[in-house]
Amino acid sequence: MAEVLVLVDHVDGKVRKTTSELLTIARRLGEPSAVFVGAGFDAAKETLARFGAEKVYRVESPEVLEHLVVPQAELLAQLVADKAPAAVLVPSSPEGKEIAARLAIKTESGLITDAVDVQAADGGVATTQSVFAGSYTVSATVTKGTPIIAVKPNSATPEEAAGAAADEVLDFTPSDAAKGAKVTESKPKQATGRPELTEAAIVVSGGRGTAGDFSKVEDFADSLGAAVGASRAAVDAGWYPHTSQVGQTGKQVSPQLYVACGISGAIQHRAGMQTSKTIVAVNKDNEAPIFELVDFGVVGDLFSVLPQATDAIKAA
Ligand code: FAD
Repeated sequence: MAEVLVLVDHVDGKVRKTTSELLTIARRLGEPSAVFVGAGFDAAKETLARFGAEKVYRVESPEVLEHLVVPQAELLAQLVADKAPAAVLVPSSPEGKEIAARLAIKTESGLITDAVDVQAADGGVATTQSVFAGSYTVSATVTKGTPIIAVKPNSATPEEAAGAAADEVLDFTPSDAAKGAKVTESKPKQATGRPELTEAAIVVSGGRGTAGDFSKVEDFADSLGAAVGASRAAVDAGWYPHTSQVGQTGKQVSPQLYVACGISGAIQHRAGMQTSKTIVAVNKDNEAPIFELVDFGVVGDLFSVLPQATDAIKAA
């Protein structure tokens, strides 16, 4: 069975959920082989095996991550040449998409980004893409070279399947051309204890309707184990960090459940969340445009609705 390469997304060996999703998808197409770059493999191995990675190609040299994404594209190109995989899967994050694009050029292969579904098809790979900020879904397939596919977070439910995760340390040195830019400092974000916004299964966002008090939004999010997002109005007002902004000029999220609290539903906000599987809004204006989009709407004051919902969830 042909190998399917999955680029592992991890922080010091803590494997992100997107990787278990990609390994699940890879099993539909062939035999998953993980590609692990950087330190922390011992911590990652169990997770990679649990989600079905049969092999793990790894590169420990810190040089690969020191020079942004270009060396990773070179590494994957080398593996494509050596292993002739059935496909290469990467997360559809800004970094993942840059790696995928560079890899597609190096291997003269077709590239599909923002895939929300990937299935084996006759002699190839069939994908569904979400484009124009979720306004259209497009069916696409790669017709040249190795299918390079960047898959959006939450596009598959991770399914366990024991794999051997037999590791092979690769001898890889980035070319001089790949060393054109270097990371000079890297500071971890202050930990909130909440899931990462773009990969969370549930996102609760607050807007101008919070009037700057996100405590009820955060309490509700915590009762659900959700990430917290914000509209640009809330971010511009300095009420919530820019890294939490959802929308056209913020992050694109596609969780199982998105709850918009005190957010009107401007087109630029929708651009970042309208592909969410289920959308709920809490807004005191029953004519707010967000209600055109929702699966469930609550007309009410978020300062009254959210504490009641939080209490009910905690009591359940
Ligand atoms: P508002 O539109 O002011 O809505 C506040 C809502 O809260 C209202 O519907 C109101 O009824 C409700 N409300 C008030 N009090 C309560 C209460 N107590 N309980 C319940 N409901 C209450 N916006 C983004 O979000 N993300 C982006 O990435 C983004 N990019 C942009 C890019 C460009 C180029 C431009 C021009 C704009 C962009 N915007 C973006 C801004 C966007 O157009 C809106 O201005 C913004 O989304 C509005 O945020 P909001 O819904 O929080 O505020």
